[in-house]
Amino acid sequence: QAKDQGQGGYVVFDEVMHKQVRSRLWLGNSLRYAVKALEKGQCQFQLQYQPIFCLQQRKLIGFEALLRWHHPQQGLISPEQFIPIAEETGLIVPLGQWVLERACQQLAIWFEEFWAPVSMSINVSSQQFLQPDFVSSIQSLLNGHQLPGELLKLEITESVLMETTHHVTDRLEQLQKLGLLLSLDDFGTGYSSLNYLHNLPINTLKIDRSFVWGIGQGQDQIVKTIIALAHGLEMNVVAEGIETVEQAQYLNLLGCELGQGFWFARPLEPDDAKKWLLTLKNHRKLLT
Ligand code: C2E
Ligand code: MG
Ligand code: MG
Ligand code: MG
Repeated sequence: QAKDQGQGGYVVFDEVMHKQVRSRLWLGNSLRYAVKALEKGQCQFQLQYQPIFCLQQRKLIGFEALLRWHHPQQGLISPEQFIPIAEETGLIVPLGQWVLERACQQLAIWFEEFWAPVSMSINVSSQQFLQPDFVSSIQSLLNGHQLPGELLKLEITESVLMETTHHVTDRLEQLQKLGLLLSLDDFGTGYSSLNYLHNLPINTLKIDRSFVWGIGQGQDQIVKTIIALAHGLEMNVVAEGIETVEQAQYLNLLGCELGQGFWFARPLEPDDAKKWLLTLKNHRKLLT
């Protein structure tokens, strides 16, 4: 009987695996189709913009562009699901380029309309970052939209820094020369070696939301340590995933400069993001 159960369990497991493999294949094919369709001007993708704030003044300082995929049949598919597949298939290269173009376009519109020095943070996968023409394509985007490089912030993960290092260092320095700011995303969740950190031109550490959620749950020391590390290396800190006022206050108390999270605002459609820019405009009017 035990043997029967074992076999039964095995069959179920096998079916689950089959389902997963099939759904990945399906997702990969749909993604390839959707990326191809971009060339024909058919767009299943969209960017949402999550505001990032200065914790002390509760003032908007920028947005993070977050990719959304609206599948015609399946509806909204989460980036947690399709970004890994885009990375495995190489589709992240054209898709990431689309993100860069779209985000710069939006930034240029807001920059012109509000003349507000808000920044745009863009997530960049390692494969995209390592493309030979990555730096030149950023440069031509900046030129094309007449954007100061200082307004663009690239979010890379520790996996980028794991690549053959001097290549990456060169590239980071080229980007820095263009004025761009560089953030290390999801800090503390990857295979970090603290070795590289002080040698690289990284401006910001982003505390992963899992650590922010650990505040008051026995993980305060980790958050404190990341902030101290960042400051010791003359970097500033963004906390992501702030969901409560207590988290926001505590992080501010610890000297964490910037934050984003549902407590402030969710990722927004451009029109709703614009409302936050309007608060800046009023802010300025009050001051002058
Ligand atoms: P990430 O770069 O760490 O982005 C932050 C994620 O946290 C976003 O998830 C955001 O919606 C979510 N978030 C922000 N505040 C809160 C909060 O208070 N509570 C909770 N529960 N979540 C919060 P999202 O948009 O689903 O993106 C997931 C990941 O997908 C991103 O993590 C990033 O790694 C990747 N991604 C998204 N867009 C792009 C893109 O254009 N290119 C690349 N390469 N990756 C992207
Ligand atoms: Mg990010
Ligand atoms: Mg992150
Ligand atoms: Mg994350």
